[in-house]
Amino acid sequence: MVDESKCLFCRIARGEIPAKKVYEDADTLAFLDINPRNPGHTLVIPKKHYETLMEMPDGEAGNYFASIKKLASMVMKGVNAQGISVANSNGQAAGQVVAHVHFHVIPRFSTETPPGLESILSSKRLDEKTMDQIAEGITKASGKPTEQPRPEPEPVERPSLESVPKPSSLKQPEGEEHKKKQVKKEFKDFEDEDGISFDF
Ligand SMILES: [Zn+2]
Repeated sequence: MVDESKCLFCRIARGEIPAKKVYEDADTLAFLDINPRNPGHTLVIPKKHYETLMEMPDGEAGNYFASIKKLASMVMKGVNAQGISVANSNGQAAGQVVAHVHFHVIPRFSTETPPGLESILSSKRLDEKTMDQIAEGITKASGKPTEQPRPEPEPVERPSLESVPKPSSLKQPEGEEHKKKQVKKEFKDFEDEDGISFDF
């Protein structure tokens, strides 16, 4: 059990340790990672101390995820990124070092080589002024959501029992197996990277 008076992120949430804050509401705080994998790399934490995501009550986790989604939009816009990676580790075995639940929101750029989650991002040294400018850019992006209004869902027609194909008559669409393997591989790469890249 972590002593909340000594928890690094609780101390940041209480304002005892300075951080480049980019977003704050009643329950959530977001600030720049001091070892950014890319300019704009942001950490999103619940203000209340939970060691892992799994300890959070559903309602609080739901609000927390809404904030993570908001930050993904803000960071993307704030640093003109072309993509966003969101990562979270729970427990030492997963590479979690600060025992206070946190999500990494990492902007991704089309100039990165190689692109995608298989790349291992190295830390970048950014000076104080640059970090301030980035924090300001992300903070200002708060009022400009990038999401489009959601279209009305199409009415769903339920198939009658007779029209449902029996398992034996089900065919895998061509390439489906290959796709599955690819997804599995990417997931593995992500896990590998998570252990190495997102240590904090
Ligand atoms: Zn804490």
